[in-house]
Amino acid sequence: MQYISTRGSDDKISAAQAIVTGLSKDGGLFVPDSFPHISAEKIVELATKPYYERAAYIIGLFLTDFTEDELLEYSAQAYSTRRYTENRESGFSANEITPLHQLNENVYFLELWHGPTGAFKDMALQIMPRLLTASLKKTGENRKICILVATSGDTGKAALNGFCDIEGTGIMVFYPRDGVSEVQKLQMTSQKGDNVNVVAVEGNFDDAQTGVKNIFSDEGLAGELNKERFFLSSANSINWGRLVPQIVYYISAYCDLLNENKINNGEKINFCVPTGNFGNILAAYYAEKMGLPINRLICASNRNDVLTQFINTGVYNKNRPFFTTVSPSMDILVSSNLERLLFEISGKNGDTVSSYMESLSKDGFYKIDSGVESELGRIFSSGFCSEEDTMKTIKDTFDKNNYLLDTHTAVAYKVLEDYKKETGDESISVVVSTASPFKFSHAVLNALNPCAELKDDAGLIDKLSTLTGCTAPKPLADIKNEKPRFDETVKVDGMKESVLKFIRRQ
Ligand SMILES: *Cc1c(COP(=O)(O)O)cnc(C)c1O
Repeated sequence: MQYISTRGSDDKISAAQAIVTGLSKDGGLFVPDSFPHISAEKIVELATKPYYERAAYIIGLFLTDFTEDELLEYSAQAYSTRRYTENRESGFSANEITPLHQLNENVYFLELWHGPTGAFKDMALQIMPRLLTASLKKTGENRKICILVATSGDTGKAALNGFCDIEGTGIMVFYPRDGVSEVQKLQMTSQKGDNVNVVAVEGNFDDAQTGVKNIFSDEGLAGELNKERFFLSSANSINWGRLVPQIVYYISAYCDLLNENKINNGEKINFCVPTGNFGNILAAYYAEKMGLPINRLICASNRNDVLTQFINTGVYNKNRPFFTTVSPSMDILVSSNLERLLFEISGKNGDTVSSYMESLSKDGFYKIDSGVESELGRIFSSGFCSEEDTMKTIKDTFDKNNYLLDTHTAVAYKVLEDYKKETGDESISVVVSTASPFKFSHAVLNALNPCAELKDDAGLIDKLSTLTGCTAPKPLADIKNEKPRFDETVKVDGMKESVLKFIRRQ
């Protein structure tokens, strides 16, 4: 299988090259030139296997320049049960890796947060560093790679954990100084390992992201880094190596529902996904293109409802206020991975995608053509959830079902309930649960007890545990004992200098 750019330049490259490069030279994202098919019989066969074998098979359909043995080895290392090695916790605290929690007759939660950092980013970032280092070998690259990450909180820790002490790599994470929770911040600043660095940026997530993008396109800096035998790449979901492992859990969830006789083979189900950069839900769309029986993909937004507007009207307009919400990992106005969807629904037309992206950067909006819009409507529904409803959903679900939701998952559950009311659709629906509630203890405690006056700090994890009787994942429960190692803060225009300094130390 080969990879092409969403902006239509003609080069075809291998999966390993796509993973090493991250972003195409023409500014586009890499996508497979066709989609492999997965048959109903194959799904039944995969259902008899553990998660890591399902992962190795599905990833192998896309990374055809990797051998079966390689992928089995990396998947087995990534998707194993919890263990602790020198500088890092790895593996998953649930034997099933991605357990399904049944809420009622036709609603399930797919818990993707049993990895070491408590958010679904671990699903990709536990395996991606292995795919990347193997890709460096396959492409004959002998410089070291420096991974730059701009994070709204969850990607940063998951990437630090995944890349910590990985030979031939350095990783540098930039987070918005005032835009992450105390737990998220301490998770990052206490990261161990010699090849890691964490820096706060004065500004919000979009400022940090812009700073990183500028660094990527700075040719002078690339030259300087080259002298140090380094080059830059990304661990954000623009990298194909982040996306492909995310397709696995959609197919795996279907296998688990089959195993428990909750669905018949071939029966179509819904997935409702709390969405920010559009990576997670795009993986679901790819699973559907491969043949997974999906009825609707429901895209859930918080108060920053740019995607809801887009799916309902075909107009993407980022000229709007930016809100900081209780679901910060979805506070985003430019969803990078939407470009990959536009490519597919425009019939793989790179010129069309380029023209949309041009008007987005020039005018801040674009409108898709009617043919493109109908393919969008074929499979996607959407909705958004206010701050008030997010909090109410957490409280109601705990009171009624004794099940504790994090703020992002609560957004998705509310949007699903709205969708069901509106459409009467009674298909089995799976809400994708993207974070442990303990990662957002402050907001979750506020939801359960709006009168309590709480200072946002790591001590709230114990408090939430005591109040609810739920156990916090061990790495989160232990975070209060960790000491910050990194305390540097820079302005956006100081980010480049701090990258150079870090690399010269490596
Ligand atoms: C990253 C993140 C999201 C959004 O996922 P995208 O792939 O960016 O759409 C939702 N919830 C949580 C907890 C996250 O960390």
